[in-house]
Amino acid sequence: IEQTAYQNDNLAMLGKLSASIAHEIRNPLTSIRGFIQLLRPHLSQLGKEEYAKIILAEIDRANDIIHEFLASSKPSVPQVGIIPVSLLLREVVLLTESEALMKGCEIHLHPFAEDLNISVDVKQMKQVVINIIRNAMEAITERDDDYTGRIEIGARREGAEVRIFISDNGEGMSICTLDRLFNPFFTTKKNGTGLGLSVSDKIIRNHGGCISVSSKLNEGTSFIISLPLIQ
Ligand code: ADP
Ligand code: MG
Repeated sequence: IEQTAYQNDNLAMLGKLSASIAHEIRNPLTSIRGFIQLLRPHLSQLGKEEYAKIILAEIDRANDIIHEFLASSKPSVPQVGIIPVSLLLREVVLLTESEALMKGCEIHLHPFAEDLNISVDVKQMKQVVINIIRNAMEAITERDDDYTGRIEIGARREGAEVRIFISDNGEGMSICTLDRLFNPFFTTKKNGTGLGLSVSDKIIRNHGGCISVSSKLNEGTSFIISLPLIQ
C-alpha cells in the first residue's frame, strides 16, 4: 500500500511539474508570435511571406497542444452537480450550431422521452460533448461527395445508465483508427492535436462512465457516452 501511495505522489508531482512547464512555454511562444507578425512585411518584401505563414501555423499548433494538455491536467476530482441531460445537450447544441451551419452540417437534437438526471462537472461534460461534435463536423467536411452532413444527438435510459449518443454521417474510420483513437496524440488530421478524445475519455472515466464508438468507412460514426443515472 505504501509503495502505491508513494508512486501516486510522484505521479501527481510529475503532473503538476509538466503543467507548469507547459504554462511557462506559452509566454515565449506568445512573444515569438508577436515578433514574427512584425517581421511579416519584411519577409514578404523578400518574397518569403510563405515562411511567416508556416511559422505562425506551427506556433498555433504548439499553443493548441499546450492548451489541450493543460485542460487535461486540471484537478482529477470533478466539481459535480446534478443536471438534466436534456439541459446539458441543449446548451451544447446552442454553442455549436452556428459553427456547424457554417461547415454545412445540420445538428438534430432528438426529443427526450423522460427527464434523466446525471451528476457531472458541467464544464468538463460540455467539453466532452463539444469535442465529439467537432470531430463529427471535421469528419463531415472530409467527405467530398455532395451530401448533407448530419449530426444526431440524443439521450435515453438504459437500466441504471444514461446513454448519450452523438452520430454523424461523415467519413467514418478504418479499423486501424478505431483501435487507436483514444490514445494521446493520435491524430489522422494535418492540424490535429490528437488530445480531444483522450481527454474526453479521461473525463468520462472520472465520472464513473465510459465511451464507446462504432464506425464504418464512408458511412459515419457513432459515439455513446454512458453515465450513471441519478434517480
Ligand atoms: P484530433 O481531432 O485532434 O485529431 P481527437 O482525439 O479528437 O484528435 O481524435 C482522434 C482521431 O480519431 C481523429 O484524428 C480521427 O481520425 C478520429 N475520429 C474521431 N472522431 C471521428 C469521427 N466522428 N469520424 C471519423 N473519425 C473520427
Ligand atoms: Mg478532435
